Amino acid sequence: MSELKIYRDKDIDTDLIKTKKIAVIGFGSQGYGQSLNLKDSGCDVVLGLRLGGNSDKKAKNYGFKTMTIEDAVKWADVIQVLIPDEVQAKVYEEQIKPNMRAGQYLMFAHGFNIHYKKIVPAKDINVIMVAPKGPGHTVRSQYVEGKGVPSLIAVYQDPTGDSKKVALSYAAAIGAGRAGIIETTFREETETDLFGEQAVICGGVSALMKAGFEVLTEAGYSPYMAYFEVLHEMKLIIDLVNQGGLADMRYSISNTAEYGDMTRGPKVIGEPSKNAMREILKDIQSGKFADEFTNEMATGHKKFDKLREENRNHEIEKIGEEIRSSFSWGRKENIIDRSKN
Ligand code: NAD
Ligand code: MG
Ligand code: MG
Repeated sequence: MSELKIYRDKDIDTDLIKTKKIAVIGFGSQGYGQSLNLKDSGCDVVLGLRLGGNSDKKAKNYGFKTMTIEDAVKWADVIQVLIPDEVQAKVYEEQIKPNMRAGQYLMFAHGFNIHYKKIVPAKDINVIMVAPKGPGHTVRSQYVEGKGVPSLIAVYQDPTGDSKKVALSYAAAIGAGRAGIIETTFREETETDLFGEQAVICGGVSALMKAGFEVLTEAGYSPYMAYFEVLHEMKLIIDLVNQGGLADMRYSISNTAEYGDMTRGPKVIGEPSKNAMREILKDIQSGKFADEFTNEMATGHKKFDKLREENRNHEIEKIGEEIRSSFSWGRKENIIDRSKN
């Protein structure tokens, strides 16, 4: 195993980023979380947005100065691009690139467009990444609690020679230095991030929960029971894994559960599933997935919309909504309020 270097606030020049003007482009999940944390850390932040739009209203409600994307790029030293991956290349060509100057820092929270060369910045531009390993709303909620979300940094090109320091300082300002920051490359971040979200944490887990729910309900069990057993408890179990690995989870569950876990789990996820994962990884490495996704979004996203609709109508979602609204953990201090953030 290679050596792991973890950067924390004490290893970082946390004041450096306060000497730079930062334009955050987009006020969605990451734009909301990162810009508010930067502001509370004492940074000079402006939001580059479509003026008059929804994000503009939301950002103004949080007291931000907003500008057009063009003006924000001209004004800034550091430009953090936090709009959806599939629109970045077009917005870059039309609104960002024509307004850039040598020595600026072009930043991303995911390596997708740089790694797959959908965006190719000029050689005199610094290209860096700060990628929080968590949703934008959590980047904010953790920061407010005095904590942070672990983040990755990477440097793609570095004409001014201080890109890594700027990336670390930016990462610290969004709270990541409280948790831990590790350095990677654009390629590694992009390919492992896509793999993780497709095969395991989003795709794998949602397919696993839906399959479990379907098997129980098809066998005649109550959908309410099925929801609790395969979805609700997932978080409680994962919290234990997150804190102390599989060992802490197995320490807490019954011997019955632990024996069932170790003997039956590998039947569900065995060699056939690993082969499927290897296929998924191959398509990520070859750029096939990136091209498929980019093309889908550029040609009217019909398949994407149809899948969203089908998933929204799955019984596990309907049952879940009903259950969450009747129990006390639901709907109180929600991290996400779609009207505000
Ligand atoms: P998002 O979908 O929440 O971004 C929405 C924002 O982009 C809004 O302000 C919207 O107005 C703006 N926008 C959309 N289309 C636009 C256009 N054509 N022109 C101008 N503005 C436009 O984005 P996100 O999920 O926060 O992702 C931003 C980046 O962060 C991506 O590169 C993503 O991979 C990365 N990332 C996201 C998360 C996450 O928690 N969502 C986690 C890690 C990394
Ligand atoms: Mg991702
Ligand atoms: Mg049980």
